[in-house]
Amino acid sequence: MNAPRPPLQSLDDALAELLRHAEPPLVAEQVSTFDADGRVLAEDLVSALQVPPQDNSAMDGYAVRVADAKAGAELAVSQRIPAGSSGTPLAAGTAARIFTGAPVPAGADAIVMQEDCTPVADGVVRIGRAPALGQWIRRAGEDVTRGAIVLAKGERLGPAGVGLAAGIGLAWLPVARQPRVGLFSTGDELVMPGEVPPQDMRPGAIYNSNRFFLRRLLARLGCEVNDLGIVPDTRAATLAALERASASNDLILTSGGVSVGEEDHIRPAVQQLGTLDLWSIAIKPGKPFAYGRVGAAHFIGLPGNPVSSFVTFLLLVRPFLLKLQGAAQLATRPVAMRAHFDWPRADKRREFMRVRRNEQGGLDLFANQSSGVLTSMVWGDGVVDNPPGQAIKAGDTVQFIPFAELLA
Ligand code: AMP
Ligand code: MG
Repeated sequence: MNAPRPPLQSLDDALAELLRHAEPPLVAEQVSTFDADGRVLAEDLVSALQVPPQDNSAMDGYAVRVADAKAGAELAVSQRIPAGSSGTPLAAGTAARIFTGAPVPAGADAIVMQEDCTPVADGVVRIGRAPALGQWIRRAGEDVTRGAIVLAKGERLGPAGVGLAAGIGLAWLPVARQPRVGLFSTGDELVMPGEVPPQDMRPGAIYNSNRFFLRRLLARLGCEVNDLGIVPDTRAATLAALERASASNDLILTSGGVSVGEEDHIRPAVQQLGTLDLWSIAIKPGKPFAYGRVGAAHFIGLPGNPVSSFVTFLLLVRPFLLKLQGAAQLATRPVAMRAHFDWPRADKRREFMRVRRNEQGGLDLFANQSSGVLTSMVWGDGVVDNPPGQAIKAGDTVQFIPFAELLA
């Protein structure tokens, strides 16, 4: 027997409600700065020093006093300062041979790059072009001042962030613990690639693709994935998988089986073990989406259709998992771009169409927008976020969300 239709929800309402459940944030742990890419800072990082630590040379050349370094002046080279050493105060009327990154000696107020000088005798250099005051000097603290918050709590670290943290001397960083996610796919039609060759697939069987992209999406969000595989379409198997997954995970994530058909066992099983809200979200692709709890674990049920599963993950599960890690930036930032296609019959739901940037700086549309066509996600490099009922004519401005941002 089919259950009553779930309530229709706007994406914004569903997301707001989902995010309210992403509390409390996971506790902090220390990780090596080498391993902190993709993790969310649990504390502000405050610099105990200035970067660079002292004025230093931006060029290989000569440190001089501007007053001495007129064009054509010949100066005695009084010292040599390679990177990693520090010189002595520069005597008036002399120049110091200096290399990139080396501290500028006291008294010097400009660097003349070596291309603008000529050594004329042993220990003497002729200035070819007079320098401006401060030329080629990188100032102490121009990158980071002492006491500054270089990276704030809630910041999700990328390669540049880990480099900056290392640059202020931090070998270990306080980050939110990795969310533990128990993942399983439902559907008796599913077969794992490698188990049955394509020519031997029984009628009605399909390969499990969701399991592969969901694992990678979770890993990119800093999660530890506990993969329970494919769970058969029976109440008993679904209950057992949910119980097992709830024991040791922060989130149980499933794909398929959340419609209200009689082969959809997720809903009754989650309701038996815990609580469940089933929403029909007014987006395309997408629609059925479930949030609940099983024991201490959050539960999220994604639709089975691959594109729906992928897109609802990006729009809902991604911000949920980021918030669970205490991330400050949850919303994506759409870019206004020009459609190079027509979309005359808009849906009454908000649509996320797979598109690709073209060389003219516009967006092309993938021809088949069906929720089962995963090719559209590979061909596309993002989605257009199109409001309900909004027809599009070529030349119109639309809101583009790049996958580069959603998959980061
Ligand atoms: P369901 O939500 O279980 O009704 O599934 C909707 C559609 O998605 C059906 O055509 C399923 O065969 C397909 N589907 C469900 N799970 C997967 C999966 N893991 N990989 C590929 N397709 C799937
Ligand atoms: Mg199914």
